[in-house]
Amino acid sequence: MERRDIVIIGGGPTGLSMARRLNQLGVASVTVLERESLAGGIPRHCGHLGFGWQSHRRVWTGPRFAARLRKDTASLDVRTGHTVLGIEGDVLHVQNADGLFDIAASRIVLATGTRETPRAPRFVGGARPKGVMTTGALQGHVYLEHWKPFSRPLIIGSEWVSFSAILTCRHLGIRPVAMLEAGVTVKAPGPGALIAQRLFGVPVWTETKLIAIDGLSQVESVEIEWAGKREHVSCDGVIFTGEFVPEAALLANKPAVTLAGNVHGELKTSGQCWQEGREIAGMIAKGTP
Ligand SMILES: Cc1cc2nc3c(=O)[nH]c(=O)nc-3n(C[C@H](O)[C@H](O)[C@H](O)COP(=O)(O)OP(=O)(O)OC[C@H]3O[C@@H](n4cnc5c(N)ncnc54)[C@H](O)[C@@H]3O)c2cc1C
Repeated sequence: MERRDIVIIGGGPTGLSMARRLNQLGVASVTVLERESLAGGIPRHCGHLGFGWQSHRRVWTGPRFAARLRKDTASLDVRTGHTVLGIEGDVLHVQNADGLFDIAASRIVLATGTRETPRAPRFVGGARPKGVMTTGALQGHVYLEHWKPFSRPLIIGSEWVSFSAILTCRHLGIRPVAMLEAGVTVKAPGPGALIAQRLFGVPVWTETKLIAIDGLSQVESVEIEWAGKREHVSCDGVIFTGEFVPEAALLANKPAVTLAGNVHGELKTSGQCWQEGREIAGMIAKGTP
């Protein structure tokens, strides 16, 4: 069985910055395993500006930032198309196009990031038509496939990622009907409601809950509840934003791993994850347990 000193699971900003820093610090036997065909993590499909300042003192789109991270690690052992299916002790069970195999590692780092909560765990009633997705899925359609899944969606949630959903919609001329927030105020820090309404022309409906989604093939309307009253709103899509949960299924067997980036703690920006990757690399190189 192949043995490496360090295996990093996840080739996003955290994993790639850690691999690069370990290399700069002279740690040789480091492998990054990334399940997608291209490394770079979530920024690969965030086509709007907002990346690169903390790491490279540039203002880039997500794909540009991801491309730079790949360039920074081009000479390193980053294996794409490699999905880690499980961890037992110091052994990782891995799948790639050729099949299943194992790799042993003296140290395993989990840098698998986080994902938005999709529809199912949010207990929204009604039908199951097309046009219901998270911001991440929307970005995949818009920026990677250049496909417009709807024209007048409703945005559920008001975290900062909900504003990313607005920017993504604007990229293909999609005009959100409104942004729905169950709480009293917008969750994003700063003047979120003003930005949504004045800058992007998207009304923000606070203290409003999504009850059900209706539609045969495509979404046709939703039922919402506001001030104890229910009403139907016409729209052709629903974007579930935020409510991030760690991508931590690999912790099921309670393996001894180091957690890095967005898979643990508070939700962080790509720059903060990049920085944390470097800091953990420094600790690993010093032999900190
Ligand atoms: C819609 C959206 C918009 C955003 N906009 C911004 C912004 O404007 N500016 C900003 O700074 N940040 C933004 N962010 C946040 C930023 O994307 C994250 O902070 C950053 O990507 C976290 O990096 P990470 O490496 O920890 O995780 P990720 O980027 O999620 O990377 C994790 C990687 O692990 C891989 N992986 C997962 N499981 C496995 C497995 N079992 N085997 C192998 N590989 C695996 C994944 O394929 C992925 O490539 C946005 C996030 C979202 C969702």
